[in-house]
Amino acid sequence: MENKYSIEQIKSAHKILKEFTYVPKPVNKGYSGETLYVNLSTNEIKIKQVTERMKDVFIGGRGFGLWYLWNAVTEKTRWNDPENEIIISPGPIGGITQYPGAGKSLVVSLSPITGSAMDSNVGGYFGPYMKFSGFDAIEIQGKAPKDVVVFIDGDNGRVTIEEAPLEDINSHIICEQLTELYAKDEADRLHVATVASGKAAEHTLIGHLNFSFYDKRRKGTRLKQAGRGGIGTVFRDKKIKGLVVRTTNIKGNSNTPADQALLNKTGIKLHKEIHRNDDKQCHMRTQGTAHLVEIMSDYDLLPVNNFKFGSHEKARQMASWVWEKKFTQGIPDGCWFGCTLACAKAVDGFQLKTGPYKGDKVIVDGPEYETVAGVGSCCGIFDPDAVVELNFYCDTYGVDTISFGTLTAFAMECFENKIITEKETGGLKLNFGNHEAALELLHQMARGEGFGKVAGMGVRRMKEYFVKNYNADPKFLQDIGMECKGLEYSQYVSKESLAQQGGYALTNKGPQHDEAWLIFMDMVNNHIPTFENKAEALHYFPLFRTWFGLNGLCKLPWNDVEPEDNPKTDEPAKVPEHVQNYVDLFNGVTGKKIDKKELIRMSERVYNFQRVFNLKMGFGTREHDIPPYRSVGPVTCEEYESRKDRYDKQLKEKAGISPEGLSTEEKVKKMREYREKQYQMLVDAVYKRRGWNEKGIPKLETLKDLSIDFEDVVKIVKSKM
Ligand code: SF4
Repeated sequence: MENKYSIEQIKSAHKILKEFTYVPKPVNKGYSGETLYVNLSTNEIKIKQVTERMKDVFIGGRGFGLWYLWNAVTEKTRWNDPENEIIISPGPIGGITQYPGAGKSLVVSLSPITGSAMDSNVGGYFGPYMKFSGFDAIEIQGKAPKDVVVFIDGDNGRVTIEEAPLEDINSHIICEQLTELYAKDEADRLHVATVASGKAAEHTLIGHLNFSFYDKRRKGTRLKQAGRGGIGTVFRDKKIKGLVVRTTNIKGNSNTPADQALLNKTGIKLHKEIHRNDDKQCHMRTQGTAHLVEIMSDYDLLPVNNFKFGSHEKARQMASWVWEKKFTQGIPDGCWFGCTLACAKAVDGFQLKTGPYKGDKVIVDGPEYETVAGVGSCCGIFDPDAVVELNFYCDTYGVDTISFGTLTAFAMECFENKIITEKETGGLKLNFGNHEAALELLHQMARGEGFGKVAGMGVRRMKEYFVKNYNADPKFLQDIGMECKGLEYSQYVSKESLAQQGGYALTNKGPQHDEAWLIFMDMVNNHIPTFENKAEALHYFPLFRTWFGLNGLCKLPWNDVEPEDNPKTDEPAKVPEHVQNYVDLFNGVTGKKIDKKELIRMSERVYNFQRVFNLKMGFGTREHDIPPYRSVGPVTCEEYESRKDRYDKQLKEKAGISPEGLSTEEKVKKMREYREKQYQMLVDAVYKRRGWNEKGIPKLETLKDLSIDFEDVVKIVKSKM
């Protein structure tokens, strides 16, 4: 691909605005003990000490991010105020190479789309390289007047803020440019990691960040996404073109763990298990998470046409075997060293058919399941090449494929219901299945033009806009607009799983599956039949999953491969042997002595703190935990009729209402009354289990018990009670 400027031109246009030197602290037991603070308004660069209290209470990763953000913003701060920060932290286990899935970074910021604290988990090498350059976190505040690059030179202990006028904005180009610019030679590119966003992040609220790693077999940079909540939009609002780190300090013991032998032993055990079982279980090494497509369709869980339906006969056009053929096989696709689960698949040499790079052959990272379902089936699109093209442009333009898919599907349903027409869309025929219109919408977002600008505000703001400007029925839009707390739903149909309805809507950041995914436990296996069972699951699993984000870990090696005897254990859904692995990893790195119970307590502190953070920002109470009805049950007669036998049976057997003689409209109404009541009963049970009051506010005794009853935390909680 041709770049507009040569690397020499780009380099000579850089002007150093600030230079800061430091002595890189070696990492000891998972921590360097220092955070890099950068203010882009004042060009201040300084080092902050990581305190023992931070390590004890917030652990690292998402916990550190929330703590720094809490101290940086007030309840009045908005996402585009200079006070807002972007914090990146890998956590204490992050960066080990012995155990699969240990290279994640956690990104935290005030979200443009929710207005509260957002956390996003991402692969790529930036987080670990930053740690091995001496920093447990980077905290970026302020706004630059012109585009800048922040460079951390870990080998020489130097940080610079550089004016960077000539680089591209779109990630597939700028990540290559920055990698080449800061590497000494081609072999050295492996030592450089970058973070960038894209043009659409500038014009929408759903911008994401791309974290790169250099793939020496493909001789190109690969991109992994911190997708959720619009942090890419914050990044570009701060006029950051890129973050770059370079270090050669990448060894198997760079974390200087307390017990290297324990890490080796735990890692070898899982490597062998993956080798034995992956081909028989989830096929992550050959299909990545795209192996889920036909499974979700078979279980009626694949979102189709804005979550109206859960399956489609054409889903098989995008099934796992289709992706297996498209993914380049034989290359170990781990997004960090040592990840033998290796699900970071890619389509190589894909020739683009549209947009500014039409005709170019590119590497496309993915698609992962969420992308196939989001920009594919949820929009009624079942053409795999169209999905790959949408995937590529979402990535390089810096927009989240999940939000893009869900908001496009919403706009399509509005179009089909004539709430918006070609007049409002500027000629775009946004019918379900029209991938050309979806692509054009995406290109408009990147250009900041037309209906792309309206759609790029996200589902919540589109609803308000359509009501205000097009006289749309607010109740119908509320029912079909798949967002909660402002964040677009990720890609699972939750209508038939009460626990998953809570798993989505009772989250801190909004409906994202990385917090709780209970559909199989609840709907398929019926392992959590009572409200108390569901509440227990909605206590344990979000906390267990939160723990990955405190430590720089990927969730996938936890349960996308399992020991052979796992089904015979007491609690197979928890995968007890793997939970013990994580206890061993934490103890092996930090030298502490936690057990499985303490692991959950660690998360519980941060989780409750994040709930209070929501309260601080004006959210975090019961009314914000109510899902759109589309995620709870059938909104329209069409949806009811498509599953008539199932719903009639449920009305009779569960709700005690005979469907005989009722019109479909009446049945939809009765079903809704029943399901909404069930949901409220679930909320009561979950709040009780979590130690929150009936409004969803953590009780003072809960905060005390967790030792997070800090003065300002208690003050906020008291003011909301
Ligand atoms: S399992 Fe996949 S996403 Fe997770 S660390 Fe490994 S390659 Fe990355």
